[in-house]
Amino acid sequence: MNNDEMKKITNHRDFRDDEFWREIPAWKDVSREQFADHKWQSKNSIIKLKHVKEVLGSRVSEATIADIEAALKIAPMNIRITPYVFALIDWDDPANDPLRRQFLPFASQMLPNHPFYMEDSLHEDVDSPVSMLTHRYPDKVLFLPLTTCPVYCAYCTRSRIIGGSTSSIEKDTYGANPKLWDAAFEYLRNHPEIEDVVISGGDSYNLQASQIRHIGEALLDIPNIRRIRYATKGIAIFPMKILTDDNWVQAIVDVQKLGREKGKAVVIHTHFSSPREITEWSRQAMDRLFSEGVIVRNQAVLQSDVNNDVDIMTMLTRKLGYINIQPYYVYMHDMVPNCERFRTTLEEGVELEKAVRGTTAGFNTPRFVCDVPGGGGKRNIASYEYYDRETGISVWRAPEVKPGELFLYFDPIHKLAAYAQKRWAIEKERRVMVRDALSRVEPDLGSIKKETLRERFGLNI
Ligand code: SF4
Repeated sequence: MNNDEMKKITNHRDFRDDEFWREIPAWKDVSREQFADHKWQSKNSIIKLKHVKEVLGSRVSEATIADIEAALKIAPMNIRITPYVFALIDWDDPANDPLRRQFLPFASQMLPNHPFYMEDSLHEDVDSPVSMLTHRYPDKVLFLPLTTCPVYCAYCTRSRIIGGSTSSIEKDTYGANPKLWDAAFEYLRNHPEIEDVVISGGDSYNLQASQIRHIGEALLDIPNIRRIRYATKGIAIFPMKILTDDNWVQAIVDVQKLGREKGKAVVIHTHFSSPREITEWSRQAMDRLFSEGVIVRNQAVLQSDVNNDVDIMTMLTRKLGYINIQPYYVYMHDMVPNCERFRTTLEEGVELEKAVRGTTAGFNTPRFVCDVPGGGGKRNIASYEYYDRETGISVWRAPEVKPGELFLYFDPIHKLAAYAQKRWAIEKERRVMVRDALSRVEPDLGSIKKETLRERFGLNI
């Protein structure tokens, strides 16, 4: 093997360790110690457009600022970006930067919503027996104890509730209110079939150390609960907190140790989508968690011009594995508002999965899944019942989750051939295409639960 070949298979071991933040005019004199401080990161997070201008000065053009300003008038998410991520963006080419795309929308890149998009595409609210809890799978629940995050992703699947009202959408953002959590704990106590709790939101990074302990201890105290996962994008976008917020890390470590004493698993699920998010800071943060015995798994989202490329997805997978984060899932993008620019076709996902599988050990290879709209849950990407690549319609079943029901996922229209795009522009044609796809799976359309298709997609089949 020559040096170039060797480099190709080992360059996932390279971690950026330069003082990249000094490229941002306002932070050129910020020392490594300051940048490493989680309090400095929080205090200097970019939460308004005027901050973008203030910190970048002449490095950002008026046209770029105008593009962001126009986007924020229609975007469902507010801005919040840590200095760590903001400084990793290539401000010489922001339009094509995968990190900028994830956190700072440009109006010029936005596309109309798909006709069958949904505010709550995963039916988390519909499948919610008590406030803050979604109970879909027999033995697992999703617990949403807060609605804030250390960053706000432009593509958030819970944009209907996360991160406060925007110019275009009023939200019932409830922050973290521990008094309201007891009803969720009570539900879990009264449902002995539930063993698994995902603590998400919002983002567990924004829970105080005392709240991490309170939730962890309360859940571990419930006899039927065997597994809990704290979900946070934090390690990807704010690794300094792991390195310098000792109280928070100790709370996670203590809950994890308590879990082990009780024979129960306590892990972190994080959310890296681009290898560009992984630096020496991430590696050191993971070294700390790993040395404390904390298991971390990753859930990425497949996104156009962020990671829908074999080399990039392979690099993401291998870099994560190298720093002891298990690449667990890559999700097809949910069909939520204002996200068409991010979505890929199902075919792209299937092809990527094929290409990535075999590049590293199986346990470090992510499962590519589609969380099918309407609450069917996560399905293996190739387990559709039918997929028409021309119309972009796929049909799914979820026998253990919602027996007897059919679910639909739709490729983004702008990625279809021109004649298919024309068909999608005509409402009657949409119904014909959907009817055809459903009949390939269920020839007797009379047996399909039409009310659910009407509720989900407004479809009269
Ligand atoms: S961190 Fe998660 S919950 Fe928060 S904005 Fe991003 S995707 Fe949404």
